[in-house]
This record gives sequence, C-alpha cells and structure tokens, in this order.
Amino acid sequence: MTSSTSSVVRTRFAPSPTGYLHLGGARTALFSWAFARHHQGVFVLRIEDTDLERSTPEAVQAILDSMEWLGMQPDEGPFYQMQRMERYREVIAQMLKDGTAYHCYSSPAEVEAMREKARAAGLKPRYDGTWRPEAGKTLPPVPADRQPVVRFKNPADGATSWNDLIKGPISFDNSELDDLIIARPDGTPTYNFCVVVDDWDMQITHVLRGDDHVNNTPRQINILRALGAALPEYGHVPMILGPDGEKLSKRHGAVNVMEYDSDGYLPEAMINYLARLGWSHGNDELFTREQLVEWFDTRHLTKSAAQWDPKKLNWVNAHYIKHSSNEDLAARVAPRIRQRQGDPDAVDLAAVMGLLKDRADTLNQLADGAMLFCGVYAPADAELLAEHLDDAARALLADFAQKAQALPDWTSEALDAQIKSLLADHGVKMPKLGIPLRLVVTGQKQTPSLGPVLALLGRERVLERLAAT
Ligand code: GLU
Repeated sequence: MTSSTSSVVRTRFAPSPTGYLHLGGARTALFSWAFARHHQGVFVLRIEDTDLERSTPEAVQAILDSMEWLGMQPDEGPFYQMQRMERYREVIAQMLKDGTAYHCYSSPAEVEAMREKARAAGLKPRYDGTWRPEAGKTLPPVPADRQPVVRFKNPADGATSWNDLIKGPISFDNSELDDLIIARPDGTPTYNFCVVVDDWDMQITHVLRGDDHVNNTPRQINILRALGAALPEYGHVPMILGPDGEKLSKRHGAVNVMEYDSDGYLPEAMINYLARLGWSHGNDELFTREQLVEWFDTRHLTKSAAQWDPKKLNWVNAHYIKHSSNEDLAARVAPRIRQRQGDPDAVDLAAVMGLLKDRADTLNQLADGAMLFCGVYAPADAELLAEHLDDAARALLADFAQKAQALPDWTSEALDAQIKSLLADHGVKMPKLGIPLRLVVTGQKQTPSLGPVLALLGRERVLERLAAT
C-alpha cells in the first residue's frame, strides 16, 4: 500500500468494536457504502480495536453480523488496527527521523501544570512546547528513567481548513491545536494517529463519519500533510435525534441494529429508511437498494440532525412486506413460528402470508398471525363461549358442519359461498354465525376473513373442532 493518489473512489467504515452496531453507525456505514457503490469504487471495513479495555471479539462479530444482515459487504477488509502495530511504529520512527515528530519527556503532572498555568492566564489549556525542537533552541537535559511520549509537531500558525462535503467550509486556527501525542511512553500509537496511517495506506479518498469527529479532522489533516499524503475529502454526518429531539438512545427504543432483525424488520426496509434519515432524492420515500446506489450523492446529505421516526419505519417495513412474495415471507417467518413453538409445516404458510401481509408492519406480526394455523389450538375462554354459543348458534354450527363435510372442494370460495347460503337459509346476518364459528374453530373472536381461514385450517381440523363443541 502506498500514498499514491488514485482516481478510484475508496471509502471506509471504521467502527470501534466496543458494543453492538447502533443505528447511527449503520447509517454512516450505509452512506460510505452507497457512495463507493455509486462511483464503482471500493468500500473498506476497518475495525478500530486499539482500545483494548473496551474492544471485544463479541462486538467485532456483532458489527460483522449487522453489516452482513444489511447487505453491506466490504470489498476490502475487515482490517484490524491491532494487526497493524508494526506499521504504525514504522511511520512514527520515520517522522522522528524527518523531524515532523519529537520526543517529549514532560510527565503527565508537568503537562497538567502547564495547562493550569495557561488556564490561569486566561489562555486555552495546552502543552507549552518545552520539548518541541526549534531552530536555535536548546532542549532541556533528558531526564533519566523516563520514557518519552512522541508528539506531532503541529504547524505553529496559519489555519487548517477543509470544505466539508456536508457542513461546508470549516477552519481551525493551528494555534488552537496542541502538539498531539502520537505514541505513548510504551510506544503504542494513539487513536488519531492510527486513523491517519490507515486512511493513507488504504488510499481512502472520501471519509464519511459522524460529526463527533469534526475536532479530530484538522489534527488528522496536519499529520497527513506532514507525511506527504494525499488528503481525502471529509464529510461529517450530523447525529440522529430521537422523536423527542434528544440524542437517539436506548430510552427511545432499540438502537442495536440486530434488534431490528429480531423485531421483524426487513433489511431492505432498514436500508431504505436509514438512507432517508439525513439524505434525500426529491420526495422519494421508497426506493430499492439499486436506486439508492444509482442516486446517492453527498450533496443531498442534510446539515441538520435527522429525527428517528418509528412510525415511518413501520410504514416503510409494511411496504416491503406487502411487496414481498408469499414464498419469501414464508421462508423468513418460518423460524419465527418455530421460536413461538409453532409448526410452520402445519399449513400452506405461503398462502397464510398472502392472507396476512397486507395488514402487517413486521415479520413478527406475521408470525403471531400465522400461529392461528401453526400453533397448538387453545379453546376459547368459557365465558366468551357461553356468551356466544346459545341454542340458535349451536343449530347454525351443526348445519354448517354437516354441509361443510359434504363440500366437494375445500376452498375459500366454496366456503364463502356455503356460509352465504347458510345465512340466507336461516335468515340471519353474518355475526350470528361468524362469531361462534370463529370461537369454536380458532379459539379467537377475531380473525382474518373466514373463508380463507377455514380453507387454510383444512377440513379435518375444522370439522374436528366443530364436533367437539
Ligand atoms: N472508530 C471511530 C468510531 O467508531 C470512527 C473513526 C473514523 O471514522 O474516522 O467512532
């Protein structure tokens, strides 16, 4: 890997594996992924695992699982920063040689005293440059028994500016930026430094990340410049707010991406919804992954924070459910039925999906609905039965059972026609038959339309339950 500029767009997603992948991270990943795909570029996944105390293998796995679930496979990586330590040390050694970094022997207590002094003088607290080499300056004698840190020799004056892809021009005075520690006394590189070396080595052309990193960007730009590296373009994505306008957090509901999988959301719906959270294509609310890739640009990423709207997510999910094939839904819902101790093979599950899909927001609602056919039959509440199963109702059900037994075709249409003629024969309206029939056959007072429900349950189950009444 070298620092040569390339005309190919290369983006990266660089999560720190300190927990599950949350919605904000997934959205940042999505923007980087879509941008790379739009430009036929390369999407790199980099795991920033140098914080040994907070990084866990479970969190790495959770990130990989979430990316796979959402269909955002990287073209390169995952790369792990912990496996690149040699490279960071090599660059630090080179910078010390080039004079763009220097050893600093000030102790943490001394640095704190410098900061205190600056604060007292009404200045920005900072390292005072004691060990910063300058032409004609004599450095203090090196203290014995003290391991130095390595500091980056930040430009002393001028400003560091960039034209943010989302926020527009941003500028920091270099005098505001401390000489950043790039290696600790034990030689391990620090966070901002690893990011820089990685973005350089991985030839990243566009960095899209959360705007909590805006303050890191001028430091990273200055180090990249010192290394003679090409600068990527930067775009800082505003955060996601909860429906109440506060930063999105657990108290607004699930923030772990994989929880949306368990809750019955389709990855296509999540992608569509997340993309609209801070990006727009005219008034389009619903678009496919392919359309997102075709349309994605950074110009339509919004500067203002986006607001999480669970109702809209449900609406988007309902759309994707409605437009999925019955077979596809059956395959996705079957494991959820098993989780509910039901038997997905007890019925033509695809047909059940067809019956339920127009009114479901989630796959879990479909699974709940399908339990009517796949679960263990639980007779209705005795009180409910007593209320609705009078002599007239019993007579109706007996007649229905007799005719149903003789029905040539056990289809929804034939059953509907039979119910209709029975109502006419007895001179009663639908609820008189519908409620007791549902209660006896399904154990429930409300179900989807009777014809299809009876058809899907099958003649045997229906007649058996009627006979047991
Ligand atoms: N590892 C950082 C995070 O998870 C992201 C760093 C970056 O994108 O530059 O917040």
